[in-house]
Amino acid sequence: MKQWIIVGLCCLSLNTFAQSDDSLVMRSISDEIMMHGKCYDDLRVLCKQIGHRLSGSPQAVKAVEWGQRAMEDAGADMVWLQAADVPRWVRGEEHLKFKFGKDKNYREVRVLSIGNTVGTDGKILEAPVIMVNSINEFDQLDKGLVEGKIIYFNYRFRQDLINTFEGYGDAGRYRWLSPNIASAKGAAGVIIRSVSTGVDDEPHTGSMRYADTVKPIPAVAIGNTSADMLEAKCRAGMVTAQIQSECKMYDTVRSYNVIGELKGTEHPEEIIVVGGHLDSWDVGEGAHDDGAGCVQSIEVIRALKALGIRPKHTIRAVLFMNEENGLRGGFAYGDSAKAKNEPHIIAIETDAGGFSSRGIGLDMSEDKKERIRGFRNLFLPYGVYDFEHDEGGADISPLQRMGVPVAGLMPDPQRYFDLHHTARDVFENVNHRELKIGATTLAGFVYLVDKYGLGPTAPLKDMNIGSTPYSQRKAK
Ligand SMILES: [Zn+2]
Repeated sequence: MKQWIIVGLCCLSLNTFAQSDDSLVMRSISDEIMMHGKCYDDLRVLCKQIGHRLSGSPQAVKAVEWGQRAMEDAGADMVWLQAADVPRWVRGEEHLKFKFGKDKNYREVRVLSIGNTVGTDGKILEAPVIMVNSINEFDQLDKGLVEGKIIYFNYRFRQDLINTFEGYGDAGRYRWLSPNIASAKGAAGVIIRSVSTGVDDEPHTGSMRYADTVKPIPAVAIGNTSADMLEAKCRAGMVTAQIQSECKMYDTVRSYNVIGELKGTEHPEEIIVVGGHLDSWDVGEGAHDDGAGCVQSIEVIRALKALGIRPKHTIRAVLFMNEENGLRGGFAYGDSAKAKNEPHIIAIETDAGGFSSRGIGLDMSEDKKERIRGFRNLFLPYGVYDFEHDEGGADISPLQRMGVPVAGLMPDPQRYFDLHHTARDVFENVNHRELKIGATTLAGFVYLVDKYGLGPTAPLKDMNIGSTPYSQRKAK
């Protein structure tokens, strides 16, 4: 009995020692990033010298060159580019005007076409507006009433949901679905209330994809205050709209993911990925979405290297191309990992804004989640407490389909959807401390997963989405 107690105490003290040892390393990582971190300076260069960088644009080419240099400067052992063929969508000029009731003149409002949509070839598309408050309401409308009209989907972002990412999933359906369902009933065009928490007139763009079965029709988004005004006018009487836009999809363009790695000392063949996406929408500077995630991922490499922490496994920072309107970079990475038979311990994405981190979402088996939750106390001094949500990220979803455990950094979500996919997503709206705290959380997490592992690492399964590797399929 006595012996058991002694053995028990021994284990306890060893464990406590390991925890306090780890808490000292976590502190040194935090000090390194908060006091000497380069991620904020990197973000300034990306945002101010390159700016927004939609896939296939000249700025995206510059961003790839920038990413390569930044990885080298961070001290990565090896830096390389991974090819991905991406769609090239160009916005051009766009206008939206309304005429209310018996008014003679049109009134212009701020507008952004939804990404990947067709335009009007610069001509004016004029039609009466029919307002619906939900998809359900739209489904009740007769085809005869919809034909030739511009349908206004007046669906509001649900402000009652505290996690705005849930609200985004809910209201986001309107951006993804409305051009398809409206076209299927013969509509001429679509206007949506932006997928936005903001109390302002900022239009938000974002991706959609036409179903093969419908005729592509123009679709545009307006800010919340214009949307309120349009709602009131539609209730009061007849509204006519004019949409004029030049946006167009061009041929696929060769682009690249940027990858930098620290080689593992004990199991170099096993990989830990931390990444964000290098492309952005073609407004603002893609500062929160996802310049922040790119510079944080590079910072993980830089901080570990600067502190002389040599990882046991290979740590890879990946700047994925084309998350916003095609996910070609994510699939290119997945295809390559599968072809080279590279086992992945975990893939971590940071693509939820450069705000103070509150948690890390985990999408993996329960036993792996429990191992990670065992680290919770080490994160509490940094305000990171939430390990309960299932989260990953779009770029790492191909890896997830191949059985790789995935995780996503979860920053405070209250301000992200005020800025997301707008002209206001600029460097000035990122706070340097909050950005660095996110990088600290990621670097600490990578350090702990590398040190303790997550149990046996499985070989990659097939992605099971057809015979042609996704990254080699023709982009639509
Ligand atoms: Zn993003």
